[in-house]
Amino acid sequence: MPQVLSAFIIGLVASQIAVVCTTVFLHRALSHKALFLSKGVSFAFRVVTWISTGIRPRQWVAVHRKHHAFTDVAGDPHSPVLLGFWKVQLGNVQLYRKCARDGEVVRRYAKDLPADKWDRALFDHGLLGLGIGIGILCLAFGWQIGLMAAGFHVVLYLAINAAVNAVGHTFGKKVYENTARNSQWLALLSAGEGLHNNHHAAPTAARLSHAKGEIDPGWWVVSLLVKTKQAHVRLSELRLATPKVGETAPFVAAVDEETEAPLATR
Ligand SMILES: [Zn+2]
Ligand SMILES: [Zn+2]
Repeated sequence: MPQVLSAFIIGLVASQIAVVCTTVFLHRALSHKALFLSKGVSFAFRVVTWISTGIRPRQWVAVHRKHHAFTDVAGDPHSPVLLGFWKVQLGNVQLYRKCARDGEVVRRYAKDLPADKWDRALFDHGLLGLGIGIGILCLAFGWQIGLMAAGFHVVLYLAINAAVNAVGHTFGKKVYENTARNSQWLALLSAGEGLHNNHHAAPTAARLSHAKGEIDPGWWVVSLLVKTKQAHVRLSELRLATPKVGETAPFVAAVDEETEAPLATR
């Protein structure tokens, strides 16, 4: 097999591992508390997120919660409605960084995730994590294929995440009355995140597929963790924060039991 093809396949696998960490750990578990993970699995996710993305979880969580609090209105860190599709699709990293580095945003939106000794020693050093990740690829596959695979991984991971924010608020099906859209093709690439209209309608749901025919690969991972008693899902039923398109009956938005805040803002 040509080296470039091998590197692409390895990069694709690595990017999918990072995508699963993003949706299951950073998004569904930490940001929305849609599921709770065992200590061991949570720590494993921290390590893999660190070496595959270099992301600091509390920063990602804060940026994402701010997105839910100001979806497609002033204050949204990455809205294609406000900034235009290409600015978010191509500039998502810069938009993310700008918001993630705002200490006030992190203090306000990720109060429940203070830095611990592991963050100070390891996980707050994103470049070290990425360096270790690239080192592992080079040791396993040789430096040429390893470096190329790392390159493919970075490009694929960034493009997929940007697409969730850009495509997910521009193109696709609207099942519920919110500004996000569902795209099944994107959901297959992003372990379910492409079902973004569903997600904004029920942000605390651990499962992003709501209807027959919708596929959420991230849910397969969650289900496996639940079956092996490594996770439990917070809500067994779907609690909608926004009504279905065309629904005429009066709609009562679900609220968070603890804070009584509307679920749409969580
Ligand atoms: Zn969104
Ligand atoms: Zn969310």
